[in-house]
Amino acid sequence: MIKYGCQSISDEDIMSVLNVLKSEFLTQGPIIKDFEKLLADTCGSKFALAVNSATSALHISYLALGLKSGDVIWTSPNTFVATANAALMCGAFVDFVDINKNTYNMCVETLEKKLINAKKKGKLPDIVVPVHFAGTACDMKQIYELSKIYGFKIVEDASHAIGATYEREEVSDPSYPVGSGKYSDLCIFSLHPVKIITSGEGGIITCNNNEIYEKMQLLRSHGVSRDSKHFQTDDLGPWDYEQVYLGYNYRMTELQAALGLSQLSKLDEFVERRFELVKRYERNLHDFCKIKLPRQPSSGRSSNHLFCVLLNSNIVKCKRQIYKDLTDQGIGVNVHYRPVPEQSYYKNRVTDQSTYQNALNYYHRTLTLPLHPGMNSGDVDFICTTLKSTILKYDHG
Ligand SMILES: *Cc1c(COP(=O)(O)O)cnc(C)c1O
Repeated sequence: MIKYGCQSISDEDIMSVLNVLKSEFLTQGPIIKDFEKLLADTCGSKFALAVNSATSALHISYLALGLKSGDVIWTSPNTFVATANAALMCGAFVDFVDINKNTYNMCVETLEKKLINAKKKGKLPDIVVPVHFAGTACDMKQIYELSKIYGFKIVEDASHAIGATYEREEVSDPSYPVGSGKYSDLCIFSLHPVKIITSGEGGIITCNNNEIYEKMQLLRSHGVSRDSKHFQTDDLGPWDYEQVYLGYNYRMTELQAALGLSQLSKLDEFVERRFELVKRYERNLHDFCKIKLPRQPSSGRSSNHLFCVLLNSNIVKCKRQIYKDLTDQGIGVNVHYRPVPEQSYYKNRVTDQSTYQNALNYYHRTLTLPLHPGMNSGDVDFICTTLKSTILKYDHG
């Protein structure tokens, strides 16, 4: 089976984890700090904080920005449930901004219209969470400009997009890495094995604000501090710590950090390999008119986490069968995503369908083809040939 996504683990990755097992620290040791330092350097941010998942990263990002019971976040319906769930965990409400038909990311025009309406009703969002779907960045500059007008904070869910850069307005503009914090308060990444690089399980938050960073450090570990500057009780002993927030155990282990650090050194190589495979998909499929191929950014770099093609509407009714036939032939297709507000848990908690019609249309048509650095060009060719013959079997129009 060619899986839709899969980790690529080298001998060096294995050695670096083994070395930790023989060392003094299995958690909270020096490698976490090395990993965080290299991440911050890679993304061009002041700080990076490593945690045990992107879900944890989202949760403490929202908390650190002050999200509380009764507050509101807006995000894309085309995302993994964790983006929205983490806000529910804070007691906040979640609402969805429909996607753009071509980028599958949050639509800036729809966002602006929704903001104008929300302002009239006095119900503006506290945080907006753009999701860089499939590894291609949202129109962050425009979203950032709207945040200045309407006064919301921004957390980027860049789970798919480590190694990507933002689109530039002019060719001569500098190219900013996703995670640099150029257009947001915080940015989170996932290190789950299907993502661009992995630590087994893991998440990262990049940040440029000292205070928020310190708060997140405490939230990651029970909200307790050993730094006397946080002490609110007099005469505490040198053995004491003080709890100042209600925090969690969201710490990453040294084993995970060692794997993450070793993987991070191959980030560019992985992203380039993904791009080569995408080019091969495009060469093989550009003249096959039964599907629509995903778009690459016109400037800036996608990390190409997912390769999602859209079936033409006349064959959508056969998607189930196409999915099954491809799986039976060893091709691990998948679907990203059923809109979050369609989940039964969300069904009675949010808005009406009309607010995410593009995401629904997209969901009905989309199919994720396998893409990961361990694949070779022969795999892509096989997938394309099989996809074409399978679709033609069902296309009678
Ligand atoms: C994978 C993913 C998450 C959650 O990541 P974990 O590290 O598994 O917690 C959140 N948002 C998006 C968009 C994702 O793809």
